[in-house]
Amino acid sequence: MNMLTTRKTFLPFALPSISEDAIEEVANVLRSGWVTSGPKVKQFEMEFADFVGAPIAIAVNSATAGLHLALESIGLTEKDAVITSAVTFTATTEVICYFKAEPILTDVDPINHLLTPETLLATIERECTWNGSELITKKSGKVVRAIMPVHLAGYTCDMERILTIAKKYRLYVIEDAAHAFPAVHKDKMIGNWGDFTVFSFYATKGITTGEGGMITMKDSSRADHIRKMRLHGINRDAFNRPGWYYEVVEAGYKYNLSDIQAALGIVQLKESHAFWERRTQIAKRYNETFSKIKGLKLPNEDLLGIHSWHLYRVEIDPEKAFVGRDTLAEELKERNIGSSLHFIPIFEHPYYKKKFQFDRNLFPNANTMYARTLSLPLFAGMTKQDEQDVIDAVLDIFQVK
Ligand SMILES: *Cc1c(COP(=O)(O)O)cnc(C)c1O
Repeated sequence: MNMLTTRKTFLPFALPSISEDAIEEVANVLRSGWVTSGPKVKQFEMEFADFVGAPIAIAVNSATAGLHLALESIGLTEKDAVITSAVTFTATTEVICYFKAEPILTDVDPINHLLTPETLLATIERECTWNGSELITKKSGKVVRAIMPVHLAGYTCDMERILTIAKKYRLYVIEDAAHAFPAVHKDKMIGNWGDFTVFSFYATKGITTGEGGMITMKDSSRADHIRKMRLHGINRDAFNRPGWYYEVVEAGYKYNLSDIQAALGIVQLKESHAFWERRTQIAKRYNETFSKIKGLKLPNEDLLGIHSWHLYRVEIDPEKAFVGRDTLAEELKERNIGSSLHFIPIFEHPYYKKKFQFDRNLFPNANTMYARTLSLPLFAGMTKQDEQDVIDAVLDIFQVK
């Protein structure tokens, strides 16, 4: 190993960028005495809705909570099923399981690893029958109620065609947009396409509130229900009256965002374009420099929109490349550089394997993805030196001058 390429400190694959402005705004909330959901959450919701161009935005304390509330609002039950990608984080599928409903997994595109209209239709064909009014699963006899496309890494799923398929089979579309802020699909930002779009403000995401999430949507009556369920099922009309009286009308959840978090979100939102520009710049530089490495497939631009560049994932062809994926990860670690994998396919996890007995042979592209991909460090706070260290390390590992 070339000692010149070894960093003194560890570079994680992702880190949040918290400005002094953000710290000051959070401190102001702390000084104000109002630390739970209040005016800052309202402001964050309005500014986020405005930013993505969505009619309604509802802040929650995680994307997982947002996905849960979206499914709750369509009245998902144990007699139902939901179709989603095999390549996602467990949050997307665990919320389906909260209702004892069944996740139906699609394979993914061989290049960008997204759920596509083709993988969706193949799954419907294989797993379901249309009885003239409902899509029914062949094995379990459940009613398919929704599709959850995942905009993996910041590539956008083909929403027009997915929405057409959804309409044909009377399915809701709930987008997992945890990686897609800010991302544009065709002429509109992600946040305006499906029935619900759910964003994450987890520590490593496009913007962060520490923990947090946002649901964007159009249907205002369903939004009222979600706002109620977000905070204990309390009837908001009664709650907003002066005095001590309130009414609980549902067994709701405790999924509200705090003003402390929202204050951070408001500043992050203002800085988000600059974050995105910096990530884009790093991704372009990686692409230019790594294009000479044999057997390394690099991420393209998003052909259907503007990539958020949440992740920079490479795919290593073990037949052609100088080292394999696992060696690349180990050698990076030796050089004090972090990496990650997005994602271990859902069907590989013990819980899902045991509970739903997925046949891994049905997911050839997800399997190849799992064997060959790695996410390299990409975040707005990377310095020029961090960027150069990753480049030098990768070139060194593949022995490219
Ligand atoms: C991070 C992530 C989530 C969950 O987000 P939280 O805000 O942590 O709940 C869901 N889906 C995907 C694809 C993610 O990467």
